[in-house]
Amino acid sequence: MRRIKFCAGHRLFGHGGKCEHFHGHNYVADFFVQGDSQDDVGRVLDFSDLKKRVKGWIDEHWDHSFLIRDTDENAKQALSMVVPSRFFVMPYNPTAENMAKYLLEEMCPEALQGTGARAVRVRVWETDESFAEAAIQNQHDSDDSYVTSETISL
Ligand SMILES: [Zn+2]
Repeated sequence: MRRIKFCAGHRLFGHGGKCEHFHGHNYVADFFVQGDSQDDVGRVLDFSDLKKRVKGWIDEHWDHSFLIRDTDENAKQALSMVVPSRFFVMPYNPTAENMAKYLLEEMCPEALQGTGARAVRVRVWETDESFAEAAIQNQHDSDDSYVTSETISL
């Protein structure tokens, strides 16, 4: 597992409560990776290589950016007026659940391509107390994934 920290803004389109306002979080994303074999050194994937790949993608697309739902024209319009403008359009609301899902299903296969390793679980912490995660349901037979969220008491 490699942990990556980043800052991003978002709003939950149609939330009806305070989360539909622009705001941001200091996110923590945990990437759980598996491989079928270890190399001669004993690694599934070098931690520094894993970091370079997933952090590289996050730095380029999400860090210090706004995550916006594709149907949220109002937010896209507003953010487009800011110069320089930086936002990332997602096919669903940018909840922690959907961010974990996107990282697991869209980002990781691309970022880990050619390494022989694959992400089987991504956990996105929105606060110190709350995370959501997406995971590959059956790690050998299918690519079905599920999403869950949890709030813990510290
Ligand atoms: Zn939020």
